[in-house]
Amino acid sequence: CGIVGYTGFQDAYEIVINGLRRLEYRGYDSAGIVLENTEKKFSVEKTKGKVDDLVNISAELKGTAKIGMGHTRWATHGVPSDRNSHPHLSNNGKIAIVHNGIIENYDTIKKMLTEKGYTFQSETDTEVLVNLIQYFMELNPEIDFPTAVRYALNEVYGAYAITVLHEDYPGVLVVGRLGSPLAIGIGENEYFIASDASPFVEFTKEAIYLEEGHMAIISLEKGVDIRTINENSKIEPEIQKLKL
Ligand code: GLU
Repeated sequence: CGIVGYTGFQDAYEIVINGLRRLEYRGYDSAGIVLENTEKKFSVEKTKGKVDDLVNISAELKGTAKIGMGHTRWATHGVPSDRNSHPHLSNNGKIAIVHNGIIENYDTIKKMLTEKGYTFQSETDTEVLVNLIQYFMELNPEIDFPTAVRYALNEVYGAYAITVLHEDYPGVLVVGRLGSPLAIGIGENEYFIASDASPFVEFTKEAIYLEEGHMAIISLEKGVDIRTINENSKIEPEIQKLKL
């Protein structure tokens, strides 16, 4: 299973699809992609099967965006199916997530959200997390999107590497990690996100390996802002030189 994310000047579709291919060795049953186009709208394609199957249904997205993310899924909650594939969107359609790992307490949170009127399209634990982020944004209109992601992550138990996008925060990628790996590639006017460095080594030799319990807010405007998930303490990034 794997995650690839990108913001920069290159075609995000190409970077994400080629990156997913490099992560295929990790094993998976489904693949998906979401791109954020210049009208700040999401395009989502996902399918059970291989990255090649994803390409067959998504080729028209080529060249349409400079920001996006993709996922290969190893099903833990819900059978491998198109509907259970990632990315998952929140009820209002504004937040998109890709996730590797397991949200142990998704059932309790799903019950709470269902009582508040939320509906679910999939059987996944992941869809619960993306709706919890929407819930916190509605509950606390004064907080921003990255803060809502942090609040939500503080409510979940389990293991995760996530990348999240919000249509009202164009160009901002929020990532977080606990128990599943996530690396950030630092290019010139571009950033990469991936489960390991293999999707981006051809573009940059500088990477930050996100540490346990850390999240990062990534944008071309503000760079990489790393925080602890529990206390929001700022962390100085440790940039590694890749020898690959
Ligand atoms: N638990 C999530 C799911 O079943 C993510 C699985 C994964 O790591 O790919 O959809």
